[in-house]
Amino acid sequence: MNNPKKGALLYQGKAKSVYKTDDPDYLIMHFNDDATAFNGKKHEIVEGKGELNLRICKRIFEFLSDRIPMAYVETLNKKEMLQKNVEIIPLEVVVRNKIAGSLAKRFGKKAGSDLPFPVIEYFLKSDDLDDPQLTRSHIAAFNIANRTEMEIIEELALQINTILKHFFSVRGIVLVDFKVEFGRYYGDILLADEISPDSARLWEKQDESVLDKDRFRHNLGDLIEGYKIIAKRIGA
Ligand code: UDP
Repeated sequence: MNNPKKGALLYQGKAKSVYKTDDPDYLIMHFNDDATAFNGKKHEIVEGKGELNLRICKRIFEFLSDRIPMAYVETLNKKEMLQKNVEIIPLEVVVRNKIAGSLAKRFGKKAGSDLPFPVIEYFLKSDDLDDPQLTRSHIAAFNIANRTEMEIIEELALQINTILKHFFSVRGIVLVDFKVEFGRYYGDILLADEISPDSARLWEKQDESVLDKDRFRHNLGDLIEGYKIIAKRIGA
């Protein structure tokens, strides 16, 4: 397609800026060098992070693209991605293969153990409320998404997990958990936002060392070094 022209800033996220284009059906996502954690309470500029994240995300989206309906269209340059302008459903859909992060904390479980099957969780996208967890029943009652949409979302999230778990595993990386977002687009539900080491836990298979944003969250090593290992391993 002809590249749409970049327009006004539509939304300033924590690690991404979203711009309108001259075509209302498309928008441009700019990957910034900002690293944030704990709902923005920890914040640093990490030079090179935006470019690396975009490369990794592009590789993942293009790998998924023949099986998962998605907003992703193409990358435009080293820091920008063109996406369909979906109506974002304000849910963080988390799929987990191993116990880590908030799951370990909330339920007093040991991080690192395998789950017997993928566990799916929903959180409301709300910085003000600190992203509270939701059940499918809350989601229906609060009119966040209808039951048909949730059936599709759950199936897509689990399908993405199956594909990516294998994709990473054969490349020596464990997909511990990840967060995805979905949006509405002319009657379809599309995978939106990003999938990257900012939004997924990725561990080295050999020694379970952390390669993802937990390096930044918990001072576990150089962020860029981890992201570079991931990029290289997956051919991003
Ligand atoms: N996650 C995310 N954005 C959020 C919260 C979580 O991308 O606002 C991702 C996170 O990187 C991890 C997964 O979702 O891969 C599960 O996160 P968890 O609930 O364990 O929360 P955290 O430990 O990050 O607070």
